[in-house]
Amino acid sequence: MTVAKGILYVVATPIGNLGDISARGIEVLRQVDLIAAEDTRHTRPLLRHLNIRTPMLAMYEHNEAAQLDKLMACLASGQAIALVSDAGTPLISDPGFPLVRECQRKGIQVSPVPGACAAVAALSASGLATDRFYFEGFPPRTSGARQQRFRGLVAESATLVFYESSHRIRASLTDMATVFGADRKAVLARELTKIHETIVSSELGRLVAALERDADQRKGEFVILVGGALKNSDDVSPEAVRVLDILLEALPVKQAASLAARITGEKKNRLYQLALNNEVDG
Ligand code: SAM
Repeated sequence: MTVAKGILYVVATPIGNLGDISARGIEVLRQVDLIAAEDTRHTRPLLRHLNIRTPMLAMYEHNEAAQLDKLMACLASGQAIALVSDAGTPLISDPGFPLVRECQRKGIQVSPVPGACAAVAALSASGLATDRFYFEGFPPRTSGARQQRFRGLVAESATLVFYESSHRIRASLTDMATVFGADRKAVLARELTKIHETIVSSELGRLVAALERDADQRKGEFVILVGGALKNSDDVSPEAVRVLDILLEALPVKQAASLAARITGEKKNRLYQLALNNEVDG
C-alpha cells in the first residue's frame, strides 16, 4: 500500500509524453480517495490512459479558496487526497499553494510525488550552467512591465529560467534581447517531450530572428533559459562585461581580457580577474 490516510499528496504529471509519470505517482492516483485537479477535463485523458477511476474535484485558481474548506474537511476525516495540475509539478506556476500552506498550518502531512517539471527538464538539456539557476516563471504581460522586470535581473549571474506561451514568445524574447543584450547566450526549449520538441541553443538576438523567419517555431509551449551575467561585475561597466563575455567564447582568458580592456578602456587586470572568477565558478 503506497497511500496513507489523511495525507495530501502533491503529484507531478507529464508535461507532454504520457509515459513521464512515476510508478509511485500512478499508484497514488489509483489509491487516494479523491484527486483535486486544476482542470478535470485535462486530467481525465491521463486517468483513462492509466485506467484509473478515482473521483475528481476541480480546483483552479479562481475557486481555490472556496474548495479549500471542503478539501481540508476530507483530509481531517482521514481521506487521502492527490493534488494535480494540468501538467508538470503543481504549485510551480500552477495552483495549489493555499491548500499546501493550509495543510502545513494545520499539521496535515504533505507528501511530494516528484516527476516532470518543464523548467528543470529544459535546464537539464540546455547546456547552460546548472550549479545556480533563478526561476522567474512567466514574465509580465506588457512590454513595459516585462522590461522593468528584466532590468532587475541584468546583473544576476545564475542561469535565468522563464516560462512563456506562444502568444507572447516573440515579444518576450525581443524584450530580453533589448534588456540583456542581443549577444547574451540563451536556449529556447519548445514542446519538451512532445513530437515537435526543439531545443535551440544560441543568443537572444538570433533566437528572435529565427522566430521571425519561421512561424512554426512560435507554436507550442516554451521555456526560455538565459545565461547568467558574468560574476563579480559590480565595479565593471555592463558593456565591458558584455564584450569580455563574447571574447571569452573564442579566446583564452588572458587574450580576451587584454582585448576587452583595449576595446572598453577598463583595467586589464580587473577584467582578467573577472574572467578567471567566471571560469572557475561558472
Ligand atoms: N507546473 C508546470 C511545470 O511543472 O512545469 C508548469 C505550468 S505553467 C502553467 C505552463 C508553462 O510551462 C507553459 O506555458 C510553458 O512555459 C511551460 N511548459 C509546460 N510544458 C512544457 C513543454 N512540454 N515544453 C516546454 N515548456 C513547457
